[in-house]
Amino acid sequence: MLTYANYSDSPLNHEEPSASDPTKGAQGILNWAYQTYGDSLVYACSFGAESMVMIDLIANVKPDAKLVFLDTGLHFQETYDLIDEVKEKYPKLDIVMKEPSLTVDEQREQYGSALWSRDPNQCCYIRKIKPLEEVLSGATAWISGLRRAQSPSRANTDFINKDDRFESVKVCPLIHWTWDDVWNYIKDHQLPYNSLHDENYPSIGCIPCTSKVLDNEDERAGRWANFNKTECGLHVAPQSAK
Ligand code: SF4
Repeated sequence: MLTYANYSDSPLNHEEPSASDPTKGAQGILNWAYQTYGDSLVYACSFGAESMVMIDLIANVKPDAKLVFLDTGLHFQETYDLIDEVKEKYPKLDIVMKEPSLTVDEQREQYGSALWSRDPNQCCYIRKIKPLEEVLSGATAWISGLRRAQSPSRANTDFINKDDRFESVKVCPLIHWTWDDVWNYIKDHQLPYNSLHDENYPSIGCIPCTSKVLDNEDERAGRWANFNKTECGLHVAPQSAK
């Protein structure tokens, strides 16, 4: 098995996707990942546009795959509605709604109101990072929908990545996909998606930290728009997060 220590030697990371492969290598990486890691492989699913593609590709390989949604308790109703649609379309999937140890009310009692507006890193740590740490404590590898074109901080993502944050292996099948690729796939395969995407929300997270973007803005510009923050901390090394 490919391990945390020798991931970078994998020839998979150096293969250019074949021009005849409409998934740009994604389906092959998923096949490999489920053969390699089996039931211990977890997909951390945000139910964003990339997730719709990934779920469809995963269902081709492992219809009963385990998906984990970090249910912060602060998501849009449209996101929960989409999850219900996905459950109907892919009934065998094992969708785990992972909640933080503190409810939103308990967090307010301990840290004061609207922690996200004063210290979003602390809030993300409580509501996203810690819960994912708990999920991944029993997993050897996890799947993420990162794409290189999403932002400069994601430009060097490989198919298979050493994950210092969670001491794991992070498999990123969609690295070669563009935003247009994602939407062409969704439309061609008539997949469900979050209706907020039609209202200028390209990237959707928690309600307090998600806003609409202007037509000329980066697709992640609407996340933590008033903070010098572009990532929740799931994809950065531990010293960058509390
Ligand atoms: Fe808190 Fe915002 Fe992070 Fe959600 S995205 S966990 S509300 S800081």
